[in-house]
Amino acid sequence: MNIHEYQAKGLLRSYGVPVSDGRIVFRAEEAKTAAGELDGPLWVVKAQIHAGGRGKGHFKEASAGEKGGVRLAKSVSEAEEMTKQMLGRTLVTHQTGPAGKQVNRIYIEDGSDISRELYLALLVDRVTSRISFVVSTEGGMDIEEVAESTPEKILSFSVDPAAGIQGFHGRRVAFALGLEGKQVKQCVDLVNKLYKLFVERDAEMVEINPLIVTTDGDMKCLDAKMGFDSNSLYRQADILALRDET
Ligand code: GDP
Ligand code: MG
Repeated sequence: MNIHEYQAKGLLRSYGVPVSDGRIVFRAEEAKTAAGELDGPLWVVKAQIHAGGRGKGHFKEASAGEKGGVRLAKSVSEAEEMTKQMLGRTLVTHQTGPAGKQVNRIYIEDGSDISRELYLALLVDRVTSRISFVVSTEGGMDIEEVAESTPEKILSFSVDPAAGIQGFHGRRVAFALGLEGKQVKQCVDLVNKLYKLFVERDAEMVEINPLIVTTDGDMKCLDAKMGFDSNSLYRQADILALRDET
């Protein structure tokens, strides 16, 4: 069972993982207030559908404008306008198939200034049943594409469940990502928290793409995709409650 980006970010936030401030919008009338509650001067207006590749996607309806499902706005009114354009419209990405998916909610975020886009994912290794980390400097791209064209840019390793997550795991990730200074500590912290979330919430997959370094030199999760084991959800009532939402 997959949850939306804004729901995944809510979970990340509850584990102390750095994400941007954001507001979810269900109806066009809510857009102005939502965007107005964020600081600016940049807003990100993001279609919430159960598929990736939104930024590079396109809408079926001409009234939604030519841009994709992730748009940058320079003012509250522009964010409001973009929200209105996308709500109720059909977004097609390489993951939705040609029919596309209807956009019924929009997440408006405080925009970040990006220095680097990186990739970090946790998943369950089917063979060993261990939790594996997949890490790459090539953030913002599909990991399948990176695996195809530049597999040497991907690091993956699994964690011994008996020993659990250790400081060296996070440092290994930081080294692979070429992080420096305060980012190393932030990365170790991030790796520990993501592992904790993954185990405690019976996750099957957590993909942060991109994980960014901001121009201020801080780590932040800019996009988040999460999938959960349906057979474990009897233990996860609050996550189960996020289902059914389209
Ligand atoms: P996806 O296309 O569905 O994977 O959606 P993402 O949330 O990953 O956004 C796509 C791209 O939009 C990212 O790779 C970034 O390049 C860009 N983007 C998203 N959020 C921000 C932001 O806060 N600031 C800036 N400058 N770009 C952003
Ligand atoms: Mg993404």
